[in-house]
Amino acid sequence: MSVSTPLFAEAIADRESWHDDANCRGVDIDIFFSLDDLDQKNALELCKACPVRRECLQDALEQREMYGIWGGTTESDRRSMIRDHRRQERERRADAA
Ligand code: SF4
Repeated sequence: MSVSTPLFAEAIADRESWHDDANCRGVDIDIFFSLDDLDQKNALELCKACPVRRECLQDALEQREMYGIWGGTTESDRRSMIRDHRRQERERRADAA
């Protein structure tokens, strides 16, 4: 089962030039938004070897992408990363005060 993703291709194409080198170009992008374990595993495998993984992840974090696999991370991974970043920022501010 997958979530309809008509905007993904547009979203990734509208981004910086890094998308030209993306491993997911020409791939059925539904696997990046699928709830199926095998689809997600295949998407993450593509990301693992993607030369623009870092740029993709950074963009996803900046854009607060809520759904799908971006930069080799799941939605849950990104929520954790954002939570950790906010906690570190709070600790840094508390230390500086
Ligand atoms: S990291 Fe994954 S989602 Fe991002 S461009 Fe590469 S293959 Fe596509």
